[in-house]
Amino acid sequence: MFEGLSNRLGEVFDRLKKRGALSESDVSEALREVRIALLEADVALPVVKDFINSVKERAVGAEVIKSITPGQMVVKIVHDHLVELLGGTVQTLDLVAAAPVVVMMVGLQGSGKTTSTAKIAKRLSDRDRKKILMASLDVARPAAQEQLAVLGRQVSVATLPIVPGQPPVEIAKRALMVAKTEGYDVLMLDTAGRLAIDDALMAEVEAVRDATHPAETLLVADAMTGQDAVNTARIFNERVGLTGIVLTRIDGDARGGAALAMRSITGKPIKLLGTGEKMDALEDFHPDRIAGRILGMGDVVSLVEKAAATIDQAEAEKLAAKMQKGTFDLDDFLSQLRQLKKMGGMGGLMGMLPGIAKVKKQMSEAKIDDGMLKRQEAIILSMTKAERRDPKLLNAKRRVRIAKGSGTDVADVNRLIKQFGDMQKMMKQVQAMGKSGKLAKMMP
Ligand code: GDP
Ligand code: MG
Repeated sequence: MFEGLSNRLGEVFDRLKKRGALSESDVSEALREVRIALLEADVALPVVKDFINSVKERAVGAEVIKSITPGQMVVKIVHDHLVELLGGTVQTLDLVAAAPVVVMMVGLQGSGKTTSTAKIAKRLSDRDRKKILMASLDVARPAAQEQLAVLGRQVSVATLPIVPGQPPVEIAKRALMVAKTEGYDVLMLDTAGRLAIDDALMAEVEAVRDATHPAETLLVADAMTGQDAVNTARIFNERVGLTGIVLTRIDGDARGGAALAMRSITGKPIKLLGTGEKMDALEDFHPDRIAGRILGMGDVVSLVEKAAATIDQAEAEKLAAKMQKGTFDLDDFLSQLRQLKKMGGMGGLMGMLPGIAKVKKQMSEAKIDDGMLKRQEAIILSMTKAERRDPKLLNAKRRVRIAKGSGTDVADVNRLIKQFGDMQKMMKQVQAMGKSGKLAKMMP
């Protein structure tokens, strides 16, 4: 799936890769192509616009890691942003509620509701050892209730006995009663669909919701229907309130657009993928995998990740040398802060150094975030060269000047100087260890 988009992006980035350096206009050009590719993949225009703007913000001015090309860097930025837009991590069903937990499946006719209901029931029953009851509320189509009963027998999950002539809300209430009295863990409600969204359908689903209070309300949407699926998702979310999305027919040559757009229009996670007609053709939704498939550039992404790890290592070694010589100053501290900022957190460089846990803990207690790193950078940049080399010069008057110059408080300046002091102390210990030969053993 997603082939059109990935081929297209593949071409774009192949061209970029051959260039030595990427200027601002190259970034714009690349993103123009990304824009066309996303539109071709059926992503709604406002979503595409947002995506392009935020990627541009990140790409322009972003440092390119040594040993990879600027084009590869853009791939990584586009990829990371796609992952984020798709929800970041796997979202599972949230069934933590008093039993019987109700899961209501909604969506248009033919979207795959009944099939997905049985697939999910099978998974919860086989894998999670839950006792499941399924009930079809589809009285619009003659054989719909029987269809669910057949699937139920196939996957060895109980279905509510069919009582002809009962309206959907009554069936739902009866199902809930049976589930309660017979000790079921989960009740899955397969609601009726229509060919298009209409008011009667919405009113029916609302009434079922109010009678059963579902823990999960899952919209089942066909990935092949593109833009229509997005409109459906938006309206169901507004009227009924969704907790997640099941995207079906992802095994066909569906385009990535539906997943991207549905997530960003409803803000609701895609929780599961339907990958075929068989009862075990159900998968968790992995945003990074989908992003990788959309871009078709998984190897470039891992290449960049490896390069990033290498450069951290190089910086760490440089720093280790400075420690051993005892020449670590505020300029080094500044480059370390920048490194941290680039890596987007505390994890990397500091974690690679021995004995640094204390500083690391302090910094995380001080809630180091991007804003904080930026402020610290500004503080050091407001110091003179001499002050950076010799922090002992930093008397009260100078600290006030630096706070003013960096748009921070004296307290911020004090905190930074204290941190640096702690770090220097630690460096001295490391240095002593270096002399005694212990350090060499500890450094990676
Ligand atoms: P409903 O009207 O929403 O209940 O849709 P159904 O569950 O009856 O599904 C309609 C058709 O789509 C059936 O033939 C299913 O086998 C098929 N179907 C459902 N999910 C998938 C899927 O993920 N992949 C494929 N290839 N077919 C699916
Ligand atoms: Mg059905």
